[in-house]
Amino acid sequence: MAINSVKGTHDIIGKEAMGYQYIENVFKAVCELYGYRPLVTPILEHTEVFTRATGEASDVVRKEMYTFLDKGGRSLTLRPEGTAGAIRCLVEHKLAATNDLPLKYYYFGPVFRYERPQLGRYRQFIQAGIEAVGEDSPYLDAEAIVIAMRTLDFLGFQNLKVKVNSLGDQASRDAYRNALRDYFRPHLDSMCADCQERFKLNPLRMLDCKVPSDIELGKNAPNISDYLSDEAEKRFYKTLSLLNALGVEYEVDPGLVRGLDYYGQVVFEVHATSSSGADYGALLGGGHYDGMLSDFGGDKSIDHGVGFAMGVERLYSILQEDGKLEGVDPGLDIYLMPLGEDVLPDCFELAEQIRGLGYTVSLPYEKLKMGAMFKRAERANAKFAIIVGSDEIAMGEVQLKNLATKEQISAKIETLQETLDSLFGETEEGHHHE
Ligand code: AMP
Repeated sequence: MAINSVKGTHDIIGKEAMGYQYIENVFKAVCELYGYRPLVTPILEHTEVFTRATGEASDVVRKEMYTFLDKGGRSLTLRPEGTAGAIRCLVEHKLAATNDLPLKYYYFGPVFRYERPQLGRYRQFIQAGIEAVGEDSPYLDAEAIVIAMRTLDFLGFQNLKVKVNSLGDQASRDAYRNALRDYFRPHLDSMCADCQERFKLNPLRMLDCKVPSDIELGKNAPNISDYLSDEAEKRFYKTLSLLNALGVEYEVDPGLVRGLDYYGQVVFEVHATSSSGADYGALLGGGHYDGMLSDFGGDKSIDHGVGFAMGVERLYSILQEDGKLEGVDPGLDIYLMPLGEDVLPDCFELAEQIRGLGYTVSLPYEKLKMGAMFKRAERANAKFAIIVGSDEIAMGEVQLKNLATKEQISAKIETLQETLDSLFGETEEGHHHE
């Protein structure tokens, strides 16, 4: 019987694999522009990492985690998001004690959630995210949004919708929770079981409910903006003015509360639809958080962070649909064509020699007809063919064919480097290995 991939997971193959790598490269390059550094934490963590950090009230923790006992009887969990593991790591290694603050890191890797698979929703998917930790600043909050936007801009996204909101400080949220309870209390009997639970644990999350009648009710709920303390409001306006200064467009969405309980101050989401109108959901979400470091035994006096995570599958789907990934296949510089099995050993060595010069080379290790080799060269998106027969080898020569212009020349093996450098220097986009 055939064995297929696990429900909600997907293989990343061919063009798609190149697209994902391209997204990763752009994301990393942008993060580096802002002085963020890579962080790779384990996918596997003690379950406690997530139950502590995301709060017992969050849906991710209660319902969606891949949690199991290992053979030693420990409860382990495949990470459902990147922030908690990052903070666990920063605290465990006391990075705040030996580095300037804020600690600025980015990550790119798989996360796991037991959700119902649907368009733009997987059980294993990739998140690309950043965390700036250890300093409480609206500049850092704004910078996180700017990094996200610059990444999307570099990738070629247009028509993005940036939603921002402030959840204020603890006092603002306490006042708001009470107001929400007062509002929802008379309707509670008609609401879903989850919302009844959320009412007790954290009524903010009732605004995140996906049940249509509950969404309807939520529309007339009080707004957090009316409950922000003066200080929280000032802070929010500061963040917005920093975005204005950089020309980042946004819309304040008072209904945006975001799933995880540790969020406070600014929260944000970016949405986009493909040109066909397909809606894959939010491209990314993030916000400021307080109190997570001390959950892991970290220093209370620097207990602040801000970050975002974007869904790489969703980025890919939209870019692909909109034809923005056409140029990501780097192709092959050279397809080497051995004329007969006799020259295979020479070609095997020659290919290695050319790779040493920095050119990408592929060649068949079986006897193929010329026509078949040209087909392969075309499928490999090769720029040049180097044709090698035993006569040529005897003379220390090869035939070099530009596969776009069909021009063919003889080239001395001895001076191949000069020949290739000048040929590749002439091609339109230049030589991409330089
Ligand atoms: P969250 O950690 O829930 O704020 O999610 C951050 C981003 O990850 C979202 O904006 C999506 O782009 C992406 N995402 C979340 N859940 C899924 C999923 N099940 N499948 C694919 N992407 C997801």
